[in-house]
Amino acid sequence: MAAEPETAQIRRRGLMLVLSSPSGAGKSTIARNLLERDKAFELSVSVTTRPRRGSEIDGAHYHFRTTREFEMLRDNDQLLEWAEVHGNFYATPREPAERAMAEGRDMLFDIDWQGAVQLREKMQGDIVSIFILPPSMRELKERLRRRAEDQDSVIAARLENARAEIEHWREYDYVVVNDDLDRAFVSVQAIVAAERLRRDRRPGLFEFVSGLLDEKL
Ligand code: ADP
Ligand code: 5GP
Repeated sequence: MAAEPETAQIRRRGLMLVLSSPSGAGKSTIARNLLERDKAFELSVSVTTRPRRGSEIDGAHYHFRTTREFEMLRDNDQLLEWAEVHGNFYATPREPAERAMAEGRDMLFDIDWQGAVQLREKMQGDIVSIFILPPSMRELKERLRRRAEDQDSVIAARLENARAEIEHWREYDYVVVNDDLDRAFVSVQAIVAAERLRRDRRPGLFEFVSGLLDEKL
């Protein structure tokens, strides 16, 4: 989405967009749409110790690792944040995220509330966080079933955890209810467009405004 005419494109800092939701509410679907349509975003590919789902590709959806490999990454300070979710470890690799920020690129993080807390502490001014809610618990259950990639016991555990995850909704900058997918996606795009225009995210404005004021008519 082009937010401004080309003449007014002004240098800005990258933003770190955190999307969280109870499992099944649709954050991966929204994240995928955003990555397809907004080429400024790069996905932070997390490390996980959970088993790979049939549709997932190692290195694209996650870096699938053993618990021992995960512990080595953690102990060598190669993780920006990590958490245990549904009995498995999940973590954000440090190096790609720090490089993206240093180069002024935008990065998308599909992480849970524990990860969001840790990133907010470390990267305060760069984080924009959105919590995705399902329209109802009944629909959440249906979506977990329809996805049909987890066993029944896993689905039951995820539903159980959903309530605890939802309790954290107040910690996020924005909340979007994913009832109709198109509508929810438009809301996410609007949040991104506005956040990119924030004054404190646009150091290039100083130069632009002094050029404006120096302009001879
Ligand atoms: P999460 O990443 O939050 O666990 P997913 O993005 O995998 O959730 O979505 C769970 C399931 O619900 C998927 O099968 C997805 O296609 C479906 N889904 C996502 N958003 C909607 C929506 N607004 N209406 C109906 N189904 C949806
Ligand atoms: P799933 O197993 O469905 O892919 O993900 C389960 C949960 O783990 C989701 O809430 C997802 O956002 C979260 N998650 C995925 N990657 C990370 C990560 O790197 N860090 C943290 N803290 N949570 C993650």
